[in-house]
Amino acid sequence: MRLTKQRQVILDQLKKHKDHPGADTIYTEVRQILPKISLGTVYRNLELLSESEVVSKLEYGSGQKRFDPNPMPHAHFRCLECGGVEDIPLEVQPPTLQGEWLKDRTLTGANLEYFGYCPDCQNKNS
Ligand SMILES: [Zn+2]
Ligand SMILES: [Zn+2]
Repeated sequence: MRLTKQRQVILDQLKKHKDHPGADTIYTEVRQILPKISLGTVYRNLELLSESEVVSKLEYGSGQKRFDPNPMPHAHFRCLECGGVEDIPLEVQPPTLQGEWLKDRTLTGANLEYFGYCPDCQNKNS
């Protein structure tokens, strides 16, 4: 995939995030650099980047889409209170799949999500 200037800026911006932002967050930030860009353009470029597997897209039941600069399958933790999404650290990632069943299949991704309450929300509620 050819990276246009716009797409490069969008990708660079997304890579600064560890909190899996939505398109509107990226739009607000990219607009500081490219004032003429539209939300539609940002959205379309994020979709293209996820189709080319440069980034991952996380979709939740609410229809809310978030983007993740890490294209490798990894598990996420979502807070039910504030909606924050974070990567589960490698040392506590669930084991990868192994065994016979995998031999005649190719896995291209995974959508593994745990949910509960983040430390901030947990403290607020107790
Ligand atoms: Zn929270
Ligand atoms: Zn992630």
